[in-house]
Parts: sequence; C-alpha cells; structure tokens
Amino acid sequence: NESLCAVAMSEGRNWLPFSANRLVNGRGDHRVVASAKGPYYTMADGRTVFDTLSGLWCTPLGHGHPRIVEALRQQAETLDFAPGFQMTHAPAVTLAARIAKMAPEGLEHVFFANSGSEAVDTALKIAIGFHKLRGDGGRFRLIGRERGYHGVGFGGMSVGGIVSNRKMFATVMMPGVDHLRHPYDHAHVAFSKGQPEWGACLADDLERLVALHDASTIAAVIVEPVQGSTGVLVPPVGYLQKLREICTKHGILLIFDEVITGFGRMGENFASQRFGVTPDMITFAKAVTNGIVPMGGVIVTSEIYKTFMNGPESAIEFAHGYTYSGHPLAAAVAHTVLDIMEEEGINGRVKALESVLEEEVHALRDLKSVKDLRNIGLTAAIELVPAPEKSALRSVQLFEYGLQKGVLLRVTGDIISFGPPFISTPEQIKEMIQKVRKVLLKCEEDF
Ligand code: PMP
Repeated sequence: NESLCAVAMSEGRNWLPFSANRLVNGRGDHRVVASAKGPYYTMADGRTVFDTLSGLWCTPLGHGHPRIVEALRQQAETLDFAPGFQMTHAPAVTLAARIAKMAPEGLEHVFFANSGSEAVDTALKIAIGFHKLRGDGGRFRLIGRERGYHGVGFGGMSVGGIVSNRKMFATVMMPGVDHLRHPYDHAHVAFSKGQPEWGACLADDLERLVALHDASTIAAVIVEPVQGSTGVLVPPVGYLQKLREICTKHGILLIFDEVITGFGRMGENFASQRFGVTPDMITFAKAVTNGIVPMGGVIVTSEIYKTFMNGPESAIEFAHGYTYSGHPLAAAVAHTVLDIMEEEGINGRVKALESVLEEEVHALRDLKSVKDLRNIGLTAAIELVPAPEKSALRSVQLFEYGLQKGVLLRVTGDIISFGPPFISTPEQIKEMIQKVRKVLLKCEEDF
C-alpha cells in the first residue's frame, strides 16, 4: 500500500480536481482510499473513517450494498450499453416514469444526463429554448444566486455564485447572468435550528432585477433550495414561496437544483415537497444511483415537454443529449436504490435522524472556535470563527485531525459540512459529532 500511495500522489499523474488542500500541505499520501463498506471508508494506510458527507452527498445507502451490486451485475449481463441518441430501453423508460411520480405534481418528464453539471446546463438550455419555441425569444437572461453551486459547465459556472470559480474564465462567462443575494444573514439567523424565521424579504432581490432588466428579458431563476456546497445555507421560512410567486407573476421559469437535496436528504423525495414549493424544473444527480454509477437529469413540467415536442421542428432544434444519457447500468442501479429507499422508509428514517443530528450539532455551541451552527434534513454545517490568513491551513489541519480521530471531514474554508449516510444509526451520528468536538478542540490549540 505504501508504494501505491507514492505512485498515486507523488507522481501526480492522476490530476485530482480541487487539489487545493494537497497543494497547501504539499503531500497527500494518506488520502488514497482503498475500499469502503456501509458508512465507512478504509484508507490505503489501513485507517477506517466514518464518511460524514456520504461521499460528497452521493452514497446515502452506504457502500457495497449487496442488492445494488447484484442489480449492477445482472444489468451488465443483459444490456450493458445503448446509445442514448438512437434508442431507449426499459430501465430508462420505467425509471423516468418512476422519478416523475416521486416529484411534485406537475413535473412529469425526465431528461437524463450523467452528472449534476450536465443536468444544470441541460436545464438552462431547456429554459432558454422553451421561451424561444413559444415565440418569446427575448427571454435570455438567467439569474442565479450568490454562493450557489451548480457545477462546472460554462452554464452552471456562470449562474453559480462562487466568484473564485469564475475568476479564471471571467472573460468568457455567459452574458446576461445576474445573481440574487444569498438568503443568509449572520446577524439575524445565526444558530438557527432548521429554517430561520428571518430572511424571506431577501427574495425581493428578484423584483429588483426584474425592475432593472424588464421581466420580458428573463428566462429563468436557478437556486439550490438549500445551498449545500457552500455550507448548508437554509432558506428562511417563506423565501422559496416568495421566489415562486415573483417568477409566476413575471412568466420566469423557476429551477430548483436538487443535486444534493433530491432523493431523501430533506426527509422527502425532493426539497420542493419539504418546502411546499413546486418549481418548473428540478435537476438531480448523486443520490439517485447512490454514487455507484454516474447519473443526473432534469424533471420538467408537461408544458415544457409539450413545447419541445410540438412538431418535429422543435425537437430537432434542441440538439442536445449525451452518449451516456439514461445509461442502462445507471438506470438499473437507480431502480434498486429507489426500491430500497421505499422499502426501508428512508424518508421517515431521515426525519428521525434529523432531530438527532440537530441536537448533537447545536451542542457544539460552547466551543470558542464556533461562529455558527446550521442544520436541516440530514445536513448540517459548523461555521468557524474566521482565522484570517490561516483559513486554508486550518482547513487542511482539520481534515488531518479528522482522519486521526476517525472521521472523513468536508472542510471548505471556515465551514465543515455534514451529510451522513441515511443508513447511519443515531449512535454513529452522536459518535461522529463527539469526534468532531475533539478535532475542533485540538484545532483550537493550534489556531
Ligand atoms: N449542483 C449542485 C447543487 C451540486 O451540489 C453539485 C455538485 N456538488 C453540482 C450541481 C454538480 O454536480 P457534478 O459534480 O455531478 O457535476
């Protein structure tokens, strides 16, 4: 294993994405993972760590689930590939119907992609195409939100609200993109449990942009119902409802990016159902296949679907699709994932675990390094008191201490995000936070 680590990391042939942490400490041998089972990863150096973020929100049912492995094997034997451009097959057709049934009423058709980034760019293209096909081609503007993450395609990056991600490509970002303020204000909502009471007024930012540009130029608004990658920023009570009202009033499409929140993370099939707001499109990825085979997609209303299918011309004009769209292996895995979620009453389980996670996380408020604690569904975040000039080094250190204590942590700047697997027991969640307390105490000595 030692030589494996050396080859994997020091030669650097495998260009790891987002390797900032590796650059900071100049080495990363101990980041080589060897295997995984249930909610645990075993690293190449033999350490076993609890996966506090379900492999970047992807593996809610844990690793190595025997039923999923078997479904994969069986599908590979029957039909291992079919080009999505030319043909379809039962696993994809029935999966689309099943996902549509799980979605809020009115969202009835699924366009498959293979990742969150692809799903987002597909949704943005559908939004612009929809208006165009209806003779409303002046609607080209897209509105995202500060601190939103929508993947790394040019569309997703443009509507995304992480300025540092866009910096290198600033000259070629999509034109006509604006960003709403993010619905989080530390002064009003710090240490909120679940949805904060304050902040719905921030949805009025959308009216401001409408007044600035004229509604007739705006195609769509895209938001994550809960901003995940940038630290579990929970929507204030009434905020998403207000966005919906403003979009409906002005004929703007509303897209919820549910790549993280979809398929149980909020204790419902989709966050849309938890918050009681139906968008015009939902993007999904990650948990639908428990991270085992890549899959993403967009769920759209009948109105959108019919607009694109209204005669051969409109369908041909939308020249969009992926070689691996609705891949049979992914579709078969997704069916099994959804079977397990249904049979094991996963939404109910998440709701029960939500209160455990909430209580445990908020018990960390006595720590002097903690600036804020947030949670909703089976997600939570610890925001640390900023460590000027030292945040990057501290995030590396937190990760290192985490490995030492047995937890794989997701640290971005001053924020540690949590999204443990749905199969975690209440004891595992408690243990996870106890270990995090030790990690934070150790870090408080250093910073
Ligand atoms: N949208 C959201 C909300 C995400 O969280 C992510 C990934 N973290 C993406 C899009 C991009 O997904 P992918 O990495 O699969 O392209």
